[in-house]
Amino acid sequence: MTKKSFTPPCGSGCAATQMELFPSAVAAPAAPEASAEFDFDAHDVVIVGDSGGKDSGAAVHEVCTRADSAGQLHKVRVLHCDLGTTERGHLVEWPGALEVARAHAEQYGVPFAVRRSKRWGSLWARIRDHGNWPGHFARFCTSDTKTAVGRDYVGEVGAELRLGRPVRAGYAMGMRAEESKARAKKPTLERHRMSGKGTLRAVTTWLPVHQLTTEQVWELHRENGIAHHEAYDQGMRRLSCRACPLAHTDDLVRSAQLNPELFHEYAAAEADMGHQFKKSISLREIIERARS
Ligand code: SF4
Repeated sequence: MTKKSFTPPCGSGCAATQMELFPSAVAAPAAPEASAEFDFDAHDVVIVGDSGGKDSGAAVHEVCTRADSAGQLHKVRVLHCDLGTTERGHLVEWPGALEVARAHAEQYGVPFAVRRSKRWGSLWARIRDHGNWPGHFARFCTSDTKTAVGRDYVGEVGAELRLGRPVRAGYAMGMRAEESKARAKKPTLERHRMSGKGTLRAVTTWLPVHQLTTEQVWELHRENGIAHHEAYDQGMRRLSCRACPLAHTDDLVRSAQLNPELFHEYAAAEADMGHQFKKSISLREIIERARS
C-alpha cells in the first residue's frame, strides 16, 4: 500500500483539526453509520488529541465519560503535541496550554503524553526551513507537527501494548461542525486503515463534540469543572498557535496585545523571509493595530 501525502484541515482552531490524520483514500470498507456510537470493545486504545483548548477539554470529557460508562476508561489516553519554541525561546503555543491539557487528563485519571515532532524541533523551525508562512493551501504546520506526531503516537502505543497484531485505535478530536462548512460535513466516526513501516494500523477518527455549539462547550466546562486556559478570559476566542496566519485578524490583534515579544519576533521573520504573514494584513500592521 502506498502512503499518500495529505494536508490536514487545521485552520486557526487546529487544536482539534487532524481529521485527515489517517487519510480517507485508504478507508476501510466497513465505515460506521452516521448515527453509530463509538465502539470501545472494537478498539485497543482511544487517544484524545488535546491542545489545551476548550474544544479539546470538552472532547476529553465526552470520551472519558462515555468510556467510563462502558467500563473502558482504562483504554483512554490524552496526547498533547508540543510545538516547541521560536529561535528567541518564545513558546509557539500559549504558555500553560500543555498544563491545561494535562489537567484535562488528570481530571478523568487517564494517562497524559506530550510528544514533539521527531524531525522538527519546533513549528518555528519548520516555518523557517520552509521560508514562508503556513496558509490555507500550505498547512505543513499541522501535518508535520501535529498529524505526524499523532500518527507516531498510535504506533508507539501499539508497540507498547504488544498485541501481536496491528493496533486498533480510536483517535478523538475536538473539531466542531459550527466552526466551518467544511467541518460541518465531517463524519463523527470514520474508520481508516493505514500502513507505516510495514505495519498496518486500524484507526477510527472520532469527533465526540462535533454537534456542540460554542455555548454548549462552555456549558459543559461550567457543569463539569473542566479546566480552561486563561487566554479565553482575556478575550481570545480560540487557543491555537499564539500567532496563526489562518486566525481571524481580531484574534491576532488581541494576541499581539497579550504577546508583544512573540509578535515582534514573528514580524522580524516576516521581514526576513519577505512574505507577508497573512494575505490580508502584515504582522507589522497587526502590531500597529494592537497598539492603537
Ligand atoms: S499555525 Fe498553528 S494554529 Fe495555525 S494552522 Fe498552523 S498549526 Fe494550526
